[in-house]
Amino acid sequence: MEKRFVLDLTLQDWEEYMKEKGFPKFRALQLYQWLMKGTLDLSKMTNVPNDIKKAISEDLIVESMSVEKHLVSKIDGTQKFVFQLYDGHRIETVLMRYKTGLSICISSQAGCKMGCNFCASAHAGFGRNLTSGEMLGQVLLAGAFAGERIHSVVVMGIGEPFDNFDNLIGFLKSANAEQGLNLGARHITVSTRGLVPQMLQFSEIDMQVNLSVSLHAPNDELRKTLMPVAKRYSIKEVLDACRTYEKNTNRRITFEYSLFDGVNDTPECARELAKVLHGIHCHINLIAANEFDGSPFKRSKPASVRAFQDLLEKSGMTVTLRREMGTDIMAACGQLRRGLQEKTT
Ligand code: SF4
Repeated sequence: MEKRFVLDLTLQDWEEYMKEKGFPKFRALQLYQWLMKGTLDLSKMTNVPNDIKKAISEDLIVESMSVEKHLVSKIDGTQKFVFQLYDGHRIETVLMRYKTGLSICISSQAGCKMGCNFCASAHAGFGRNLTSGEMLGQVLLAGAFAGERIHSVVVMGIGEPFDNFDNLIGFLKSANAEQGLNLGARHITVSTRGLVPQMLQFSEIDMQVNLSVSLHAPNDELRKTLMPVAKRYSIKEVLDACRTYEKNTNRRITFEYSLFDGVNDTPECARELAKVLHGIHCHINLIAANEFDGSPFKRSKPASVRAFQDLLEKSGMTVTLRREMGTDIMAACGQLRRGLQEKTT
């Protein structure tokens, strides 16, 4: 049987493991508490007996994640972590400070299949899905590194979380569990490019996790030029799934909209967007898109961004402009992975 990563086991799994091995049940909680502090090194778990440590190191993958690089933005203190996984894959995680506390943006896959034309991650290709423990590990290890509790988590880094649905749900359960990260569901946001079947499945889970949908265009024709996923699901289908989510959860949805110069940032686009989103309880998050070398799109001009926001607000929409963070360390939206590639290949 394939070995599992220690962070993939829930507290209940640990209890079963201890029982199977003939160790006392209370050892499960002791061990789990160390892991939830971000300690993966068995030698540091001072109250865990050696025979248990020996069994664990034989049966499971223990130190599967390590911080390969840690970069700190000189502009705003944003931190980027490059983690190396046990099989050589690398993932990136970004830690940002807001007034409310530390927020972390984690990856859900090593690489990405979605191929969005404006995203550096898409150019790096797909490696594999991350396990729930590898998602959890990003929060735990970055938090331990920062020496501070993490206040909120967004699953918005590399990858499409709904393309890794079961592991995502496993992660959300551990993040929300009292003995796990103990993060309120409302402090967790999952971001999708609009995989309709999984959006519907997600609207059935019994957790008040926030949903964010990357729209980036007000009509299918334009959206298809930005995101190949638009060829699979129309905006109408995506918005119908959003209405179902809203009905089932009573939660407000966030729509992400990256602005590209002369492409999707015109006044006509703003008016059309307000029209298609009319009646949905939502919030629009505008992003003045970040460029990377080789990107076919240019960032919107500040005047176009302001005009776009104004038009939406005049149409009665709730809009915010996302604060750019960590651009000097390639940690901003759409910039992940590429910087690492340039340095390592
Ligand atoms: S924007 Fe997200 S979904 Fe699209 S290619 Fe980049 S990482 Fe993948």
